[in-house]
Amino acid sequence: MNSHSHAALIIVGHGSTTNPDSSSPTHLHADSIRRRGLFREVACCFWKEEPNMREVYEMVDSDVIYIVPNFISEGYFCQQVLPRELRLDGPTTQRDGKTIHYCDPVGIHPNMTRLLLQRADEVAPHVPREQTSLVIVGHGTSLNENSTKAIQDQVALIRSGHYGFAEVIDAYMEEAPFVKDWATLTTAPNVVVVPFFIADGLHSFQDIPVLLGMREDVGAALSESGVFHQNPHQLQGRSIYYSGAIGTEPLMADVILDQVHDFDAKHQVQNPKGMPNDEVKSSLAYWLNSGLDEIGEILITTQPDGTYSLCHIADRGKDDLQVHHEAHDALFIARSDASGTFRPLHSAPTLNRGWRLDLADLDELRLALDFFYPAAIGMARALEQEKLTTVPLRDLLGRQTGMYRFVNTISDDQAHALIGRTCANTKCLRRILWPLTATQPMAGAAAPKTQPNHAPNAMPLLCIEACTHVVSAARKVARENYEAKEKEKAEAG
Ligand code: SF4
Repeated sequence: MNSHSHAALIIVGHGSTTNPDSSSPTHLHADSIRRRGLFREVACCFWKEEPNMREVYEMVDSDVIYIVPNFISEGYFCQQVLPRELRLDGPTTQRDGKTIHYCDPVGIHPNMTRLLLQRADEVAPHVPREQTSLVIVGHGTSLNENSTKAIQDQVALIRSGHYGFAEVIDAYMEEAPFVKDWATLTTAPNVVVVPFFIADGLHSFQDIPVLLGMREDVGAALSESGVFHQNPHQLQGRSIYYSGAIGTEPLMADVILDQVHDFDAKHQVQNPKGMPNDEVKSSLAYWLNSGLDEIGEILITTQPDGTYSLCHIADRGKDDLQVHHEAHDALFIARSDASGTFRPLHSAPTLNRGWRLDLADLDELRLALDFFYPAAIGMARALEQEKLTTVPLRDLLGRQTGMYRFVNTISDDQAHALIGRTCANTKCLRRILWPLTATQPMAGAAAPKTQPNHAPNAMPLLCIEACTHVVSAARKVARENYEAKEKEKAEAG
């Protein structure tokens, strides 16, 4: 693969506000690519987790950015949601001096076939293929017909490749052929089921086992259970081998790189030469030298030898902390609170205590801080440079689609009240920078949240766009408005 040492790679995932396993593969593939040193910067962003698709641009300095959707198909998300949220206007977008290349999603790459075969062999070792039905399972949706195409393409490739399976079929959760009909769709004594999903989220781990009859009820999330270790499952006179989602396969990192390589080849991209910026890192160094040593709930200690130590502010001076040594460990420290509950909102004041993170240099420090508080350093720098773009609440609500398309019908008073309520409930440490509209500031219960709230020795945590918690709360209010109107209408006549 060509060197991309001048460029940033951004991997986009779906994420989840409830399931900690949803974003894990995206982070792991990013870490794998980062360690190979092929790109100058590697970052992730998510639809339902932090950093979001507006914030992530503040995490990278590079003037050339490759974006690879860690999605399974070219469907609704890759064709509509991601280009809209990432402000893309085609395969290559020029904006604010940056060149942004939008690659195809991983799931449609031809090399996915290799991964599927490998996964099938791993889950059912020594089981003869000629006595095995391979079932590739997808979601199926009415939102976009392309969502099933990636799976049908893989089925066709494996069938035509004559890999020796008794049969290869596709099946879906929400459209025919249905997963729940697996016993009539297949004929071989062994059935290998591979979910064609990016992560072991709610569908692959909880819903599909129920549809297959392996479980009676939707069970606990992956991290609390072990269904993949119970193969084979004896059901309806057959042996079922159930695999983890294909997206958890470590070789998916290579498919991400393959998509970048294919983009360069297809669009004849010439890699530029010259010195890239290093502005975010420079700002971080400057702030540390100026005496800023806190961010959110974290204390940063600069050691005499130029290394750094991080810990919870409340653990200052303690010497019985569990010591970690890699920036990537921050991802796991920040993942759950003291009770083990998932923390989708990193700026909630629920960071675990009892750890210390020793980091070798400024690069590692910057990476760790982006795991603790995604994009915070970049946003603080952009604010200082008066380059930070915020998204008015009405713009955010107005661009929602699908089940959220009515959220912008809430009144201004309702918007102020729900912001005050939602941000107070989460106890989020960020300061809101966005207005209601381009000409109307946030007011009422939301106004206090727009005021500076960080200590003089701390780097600020900033909010440039309302988060998914606010959009969900707005949907609830919009729905109540609608139901109240319907009730009024019914009573009137
Ligand atoms: S909208 Fe409120 S809760 Fe959400 S990130 Fe911003 S400040 Fe925090």
